[in-house]
Amino acid sequence: MNQDKLFKELYEKSKEENKILTPVEVINYFHHHFDEDPNVSCETWGIDNTGRPILSYTFGHGPQSILLYAFADPAEAVGGTGIIALSKLLMDKQSELSKLNYSWVIVPCLNFVDQPNHGLENSKLQKTAAQEVDWCVSDPRPETTAILQIASAYKPIFTFPLHDEFHHPEYVAPYCGLGKAIDVDTASNITALFAQYNMQMNHEYADKELGEGFFIMESIGEEIKNSTFYAFSQYGQVLVCEIPNTNKANDSELVFLQMAIGFTVLNDTISKS
Ligand SMILES: [Zn+2]
Repeated sequence: MNQDKLFKELYEKSKEENKILTPVEVINYFHHHFDEDPNVSCETWGIDNTGRPILSYTFGHGPQSILLYAFADPAEAVGGTGIIALSKLLMDKQSELSKLNYSWVIVPCLNFVDQPNHGLENSKLQKTAAQEVDWCVSDPRPETTAILQIASAYKPIFTFPLHDEFHHPEYVAPYCGLGKAIDVDTASNITALFAQYNMQMNHEYADKELGEGFFIMESIGEEIKNSTFYAFSQYGQVLVCEIPNTNKANDSELVFLQMAIGFTVLNDTISKS
C-alpha cells in the first residue's frame, strides 16, 4: 500500500463534504449511488424494531474482507461521512484504495432506531444502556445479530466499528481500542497523526507497549466476551478509533483522521499476514 498517496486521496475526498453528515444523509447517499450499481452488492441482514432493513454494501471482489460500520451508537457521526469518502475512492479505478484487492463490506447505518430526531440531525448526547448494540451479545438486539452475521459470513481480516466521542458534549482526548496488538511504530504513527492537529492521546488509557491512548480489548477482562468486538477479533484485527468533538480540527479533518488511522492499522494488519 502506498500510504502517502492513499492519505492524499483520502484527505481530498474528506474535504468534499464540509460538514459531518447526518444518518439520513449518509443512508440516502448509499441508496442513491449504489442500490442499482451492478458493481456493488447490497444485502439485507434482518430488520430493526421499526421494520427498517439493516443493509450492507460490498465493493470489490478480493478474497479477503474488510468490514466497516457507521452509526452503531446515537450521534456517533464521524464515520458516516468517512465511508462516503471511502466509497468514492473505491468507485475510482485509478485510486490507490481500489488497487488494494479486498472486498469492502460497509454498513452505512447499523443503529437507525436510536439516532436523534429520526436521523435528521447530529446532536451532542450520551447513549443509554438500552441503546447499546455492541456490548450485548448475550442479549442481542436485531442490529447486534445483523453485524455478527455479516462478520460470520465475511470473516473480515480487519473490522472497523466507527465509534467516536464526537457525540460527547465535551472534549474527550482521542484513544484507540484494538483487538490485537499493533507494532510500536504503528502506534507512534497514530499518535503523530493526532499531534498534527494538536491533540494528545488520552491519558486514561495506556498500554504497556503502545503507550498512552491505546488499549488492547482483552485488557477489559471477561466483559469483552459480551461484545461484538470480541467476535470480530476471532477473524482478525479490530480498531475502535474514538475521534473527539473539538475545534482543533474541522469536520473534514476529523473524518480524514479517523479513516487515516484506520488505514494505518490496516497497513499493520496486512504487513503481518
Ligand atoms: Zn460508541
